[in-house]
Amino acid sequence: MKICMIGAGYVGLVSAACFADFGWNVHCVDKDANRVEDLKQGRMPIYEPGLDDLVERNSAAGRIRFTNSLEEAVSGSDIVLLAVGTPVRRGDGYADLSYIFQAVEDLAPYCEQNIVIATKSTVPVGTSREIERRLRTLRPELDFAVCSNPEFLREGSAIRDFTHPDRVLVGVDTSRGRELMDRLYEPLALRNAPIIFTSRESAELAKYAANAFLALKISFINELADLCETVGADVNEIANAIGADGRIGPKFLHAGPGYGGSCFPKDVSALIRTAREARSPLTIIEQVEKVNLERKIAMARRIEEAAGGIVQGKTIAVLGVTFKPNTDDMREAPSLVILPLLQSRGAIIHVCDPQGRKQGKDLLPGVEWFTSATEAARDADMLVALTEWNEFRAIDLEEIFQHMRGNVLVDLRNVFSPQLAEAAGFSYSGIGRGDTRYDERSQSLEINKSATMN
Ligand code: NAD
Repeated sequence: MKICMIGAGYVGLVSAACFADFGWNVHCVDKDANRVEDLKQGRMPIYEPGLDDLVERNSAAGRIRFTNSLEEAVSGSDIVLLAVGTPVRRGDGYADLSYIFQAVEDLAPYCEQNIVIATKSTVPVGTSREIERRLRTLRPELDFAVCSNPEFLREGSAIRDFTHPDRVLVGVDTSRGRELMDRLYEPLALRNAPIIFTSRESAELAKYAANAFLALKISFINELADLCETVGADVNEIANAIGADGRIGPKFLHAGPGYGGSCFPKDVSALIRTAREARSPLTIIEQVEKVNLERKIAMARRIEEAAGGIVQGKTIAVLGVTFKPNTDDMREAPSLVILPLLQSRGAIIHVCDPQGRKQGKDLLPGVEWFTSATEAARDADMLVALTEWNEFRAIDLEEIFQHMRGNVLVDLRNVFSPQLAEAAGFSYSGIGRGDTRYDERSQSLEINKSATMN
């Protein structure tokens, strides 16, 4: 089978390389000429663990080719997979489908009879139908099928997620679509990966439902962490206790500075708009979005409070700025809200992130970048852990402390042991860790949650 992948980003490139590794003949096309040139030279345009080896191996075997010629990539293909971006549309919060529809228009002239077009991008319910309508207008004589094949991989563990998925989801409504998608995923089916076939509408909506549900879990545990702080409970203990319940599960119960990334914020936003438009609002998910936006601002306030109420002229050393560890992706990272707020209050920001600098340097103007945590912390007044890279878990807090001017450690990911941090000399505060605001004398609950930094 010849497969064409349109878009060589986090999803397209990983999926293309994995399909090539299954033995399929893959052409991966991107409109970004520099990206294609880098890939031809064996340079990865994104950071994803293991991706360079996988691409190199399959390029050498001739199973994957990179091009910016749609004609070369689409001609003779049995399946074309769309993996272009679907960001938030400026102004109204809907999914911006312009990249999808542009790709459909551009590929239409090269489609051959019985081609299957499958959408890996996350697209609102009804998009497959619209792609079909547009392609039929452009190529009335063409026999084709349009399927929905939403992707569930996570950056940072994308290859493993793709090759060992919890499920593969395929929305089809033709036998041709079903037959080819069955063949495409046969290598995974042989390894007992569940391949779930649904209607196209169900597949499209299920992807949004999954992300919205995970975002809900995160906002839930974040609000619970605030409650823990006021009543003297520990959110990690609660997450362990409830996560052990098979009906709840332990994942996505890590309290922190709010969710970010290329998917949750935009998908929550798009789902809310879809539901409102359908006059069937998802009020819980609307609240999830609100809680998350306020959370990032509240984290900046928390850092300011830990600095004694004033960050003007103070140096804050920040560990991690990517939206999560093991990726270079900065899209919607909490750091992009928190750090500019602190800068606007006069803070000097030092940053250390193993992969964040390439994307982050333009997004975080005015911050100083360092290659080691110790260097970032030199003469700093406070240390803030913002992204839980493994490198940071093992840092020598005693050594860091020796280089600092101040003694404040704000751990927004609960990566450090409070006892060890305090033994190293730090005044430590984490997220939802018990006794920080519990007033034992009056037994009163001091709830102090202002959502904005005034
Ligand atoms: P990305 O921005 O990393 O990559 C998109 C690529 O498509 C870019 O390289 C861009 O140049 C290219 N492109 C755009 N229009 C094109 C065209 N007409 N022809 C050829 N190339 C074109 O995006 P991503 O993170 O890979 O996300 C892609 C889709 O997958 C989105 O809908 C996203 O929601 C979804 N998704 C992403 C993830 C993730 O973890 N990143 C996970 C699951 C689903």
